[in-house]
Amino acid sequence: MSKETQSFQAEVRQLLDIVIHSIYTDKEIFVRELVSNASDALEKLRLLQLKDNNIYQADLPLEINITTDEENNTLTIADHGIGMTHAELVQNLGTIAHSGTKAFLEQIKEQGENNADVIGKFGVGFYSSFMAASEVEVFTRSSDPAADGHVWTSDGASGYSIDDAADAERGSKMVLKLKEGMEEFAKADRIKAILEKYSNFVSFPINLNGERVNTVEAIWLKSKKDVTEEQYEEFYKFVAHAWDKPRGTMHFSADAPLSIHALLFIPEENQEQFGMGQMEAGVSLYCRKVLIDSKPEKLLPDWLRFLRGVIDSEDLPLSISREAMQDSALIKKLNTLITKRFLKFLDRQAKNETEKYLEFYQKFSRFLKEGIATSPEHQEQLVSLLRFESSMSDGEKSSFAEYIDRAKDGQEEIYYLLGSSKDAIEQGPYLEAFKARGIEVAYFTEPVDQYVLDSIFEFKGKKFVAANSSDIELEDVVSEGEALSEADETKLKDWLKSTLGERIENVNSSGRLVDSPVAALTPKEAPNAQMRAMMQAMGQ
Ligand code: ADP
Ligand code: MG
Repeated sequence: MSKETQSFQAEVRQLLDIVIHSIYTDKEIFVRELVSNASDALEKLRLLQLKDNNIYQADLPLEINITTDEENNTLTIADHGIGMTHAELVQNLGTIAHSGTKAFLEQIKEQGENNADVIGKFGVGFYSSFMAASEVEVFTRSSDPAADGHVWTSDGASGYSIDDAADAERGSKMVLKLKEGMEEFAKADRIKAILEKYSNFVSFPINLNGERVNTVEAIWLKSKKDVTEEQYEEFYKFVAHAWDKPRGTMHFSADAPLSIHALLFIPEENQEQFGMGQMEAGVSLYCRKVLIDSKPEKLLPDWLRFLRGVIDSEDLPLSISREAMQDSALIKKLNTLITKRFLKFLDRQAKNETEKYLEFYQKFSRFLKEGIATSPEHQEQLVSLLRFESSMSDGEKSSFAEYIDRAKDGQEEIYYLLGSSKDAIEQGPYLEAFKARGIEVAYFTEPVDQYVLDSIFEFKGKKFVAANSSDIELEDVVSEGEALSEADETKLKDWLKSTLGERIENVNSSGRLVDSPVAALTPKEAPNAQMRAMMQAMGQ
């Protein structure tokens, strides 16, 4: 095949334009991006080697080699990882497949945020190399023995070219021709300082001009007191491929019932809030410092997919295949154990650092609610983590434990109301009966809440009851006006029935209402208002 030229996808052009013209000051981050890509490529190769021996140049060492050339103003980052085929080059370096990069573009489009800030928050992967380089060449050859070598070249403007490179070794070699003013990145000392800062957690040797620079550190095996905040933060950025800081760090070891070391992070941002679909699971599984799987799906429940970090268990058999492992009893045990520990961690935060917990809750409560509906075994713990306003919480967020504390003796139910907002609930007719009797009602205002509350039957022995259902019996309150005679009451009921006809099921008199003359209630077995609205929207 001879040389061919292709244009970048429009979104890539847009991204490159921002990256190249940004005033972002930490331009050195591109080094971290390229090293982390090299590390990913080596990791993929290592896993492939475990099950498939048919690998091109199988003897090449799994390491990253970086060379600086001051004379020619270039920086080269090479790995003997998995490499890329022609099709992969086009896909990976010509389009935007990576979710972090998509989030970056979304953020810029939606909020018109300062570009420099946003680059700092998300990172832009491979394309960040154009912050420092006027031209990038990628020599690459796939581990698949049938593939040929190629060289991809671009100036980061409109497109790129791909040519044959018969000599390319397995893996990828990125050659950056540095821009004027970026000479610092051709200096060994400068690169060494950057690598020391960012690359200590890379688990493959990194050589700079032939000399080893990194020491591999498994900080999750250390004890808490030997790890600094900065180390946690750097490690989070490394494992999560993240640019923000962790908003929570949970680090613990246990010997029984399983031997585990876990280091888990809650990210600053909930990526799913940017409307870009479900996140992938992000807690890696290790056995004695050796990575078994970087995205094991069943290691944690789905609704904990926002967590990032590492779980290392000595009890894992190293030889087990990844497929068999996903379903093993051991993974199920790890799943239950770690989920419980994490919920306890949140519970402690809710008690001791309430404000911090509420900030977390504001961004991540969706996941807890998903858990309530999908993980019955953790429901009780999850329900106790819910926070809501209520008719008695004075504008503050409350928990169900507090609700129960406030409840009168003998109240066996937890009452709640769903609505589009607090105001809507308070202006509706259902609350007054409860207010008049001094009974608290919890407010829920998110669209998912219906689904969540429908899956909770009780909490600490108290039944969950919607305050607008018809089968609630409340004690009568003494009313001031004169009561209707029985005959008048029957007349009124008959008139209401004949006037409203098919639109109602029944008319009842009760002592429930205080100020309003009538209220529409939902019959016991009928769908409630939110469900009806949904059914109507679906044309039923
Ligand atoms: P991300 O690493 O988050 O996926 P990047 O923009 O950094 O996003 O890289 C895009 C893709 O290009 C990677 O997912 C990978 O498939 C491919 N890639 C980048 N660098 C290498 C490399 N050194 N070896 C093999 N593939 C690579
Ligand atoms: Mg990357």
